[in-house]
Amino acid sequence: MREKGRYDTMQVCLNGHLITGSYETKKENRKDYCTLCGEKNITNCPNCNKKINGHYYLYNNFFGRWDKSNKKTIVPEACEYCGYFFPWKNKKGIKNEKEKKIIENKSNRKISFLAVIVAIFTILGVFVAIIVGWENIAQFFKNIFNFNQTL
Ligand SMILES: [Zn+2]
Ligand SMILES: [Zn+2]
Repeated sequence: MREKGRYDTMQVCLNGHLITGSYETKKENRKDYCTLCGEKNITNCPNCNKKINGHYYLYNNFFGRWDKSNKKTIVPEACEYCGYFFPWKNKKGIKNEKEKKIIENKSNRKISFLAVIVAIFTILGVFVAIIVGWENIAQFFKNIFNFNQTL
């Protein structure tokens, strides 16, 4: 027996953020504006007005209901009916630049964290040297050196 399936409608913001893949099934997930960037949300192709496919649903004969399938829902770059590039296609680059900057900031933070640790240890080292005295430290290393020589 062949499985009966159908697509729900996708709602996506003009920057390409997926709002919901179950616009028809889950009305509570509908939003007028994107909660990530504040852009307007659309469910249909701005060019041919056909709906953008969302989650794929399979008919469950046993329960007599539609269940969401495991099929991955990906925000398309272009309309499958007319080939029109969606508004977010050109904005992808900007989005990636922003992401790159976030990653750079993160690694910069890691480096500054390391710098702080090194600084703390240097200061601690100087304090120890002041308290114990440089000569004692020099003596301590000399002892180690002498000890090694006697071996
Ligand atoms: Zn958005
Ligand atoms: Zn279209």
